[in-house]
Amino acid sequence: GCTAEDLAAALRSAAVVVREHRDELVELDRAIGDGDHGENLRRGFDAIVTALDAATPPTPGAVLKLAATTLISKVGGAAGPLYGTALLRASTAVGDAAEIGPAEAVAALEAALGGVVARGKAEPGDKTMVDALTPAVAAATAVDGSLAEVLAAAARAADAGAESTVPLVARKGRASYLGERSAGHLDPGARSTALLLASLAATAA
Ligand code: ADP
Ligand code: MG
Ligand code: MG
Repeated sequence: GCTAEDLAAALRSAAVVVREHRDELVELDRAIGDGDHGENLRRGFDAIVTALDAATPPTPGAVLKLAATTLISKVGGAAGPLYGTALLRASTAVGDAAEIGPAEAVAALEAALGGVVARGKAEPGDKTMVDALTPAVAAATAVDGSLAEVLAAAARAADAGAESTVPLVARKGRASYLGERSAGHLDPGARSTALLLASLAATAA
């Protein structure tokens, strides 16, 4: 299973991945938004690393809560509160378990999706991170296997889900202001969701 220390290490790895893809996410957001998504996430995940440097919380749930409150307080715009709410719900879902196994991971992913939808009111097909997270939850739920297998399935489905946003017309967020002109571009938040799940899957493998 994944302990608090393991999860902290996974979030540090995710911060590296966010840094590596910062410019890519900025470019995606420049095409259909305001060009800050990569920098928003870079700032947020670097702040998570700083918070973890100060002290690693005792349980995985407490690590998720620290990451959530950090994103909510440090990242403006749409993605900070959305990812923050996702992690806060995930934290509640795992409770005070000492380790995250496959069952806790599925519960956390379901709760994260519920949080994003509760906060942002997007449906599948609206060209948002929901288009990556919804198939990820479905795929994770269908796996009867290890934590690594659950996360690998979620990551693969998220990547396909993100790619599926390219032809869509945005109905939520800044990209929706473009109307039909938002079609033909990958949604930055769906891309970052796929990247984050791929990072978690790679860490668990
Ligand atoms: P902002 O649009 O405020 O600049 P970001 O650029 O950081 O914030 O994040 C944009 C991403 O947030 C979009 O690509 C989309 O995936 C996601 N997003 C925006 N609005 C919503 C919403 N209502 N529900 C779900 N996701 C959303
Ligand atoms: Mg933006
Ligand atoms: Mg912005």
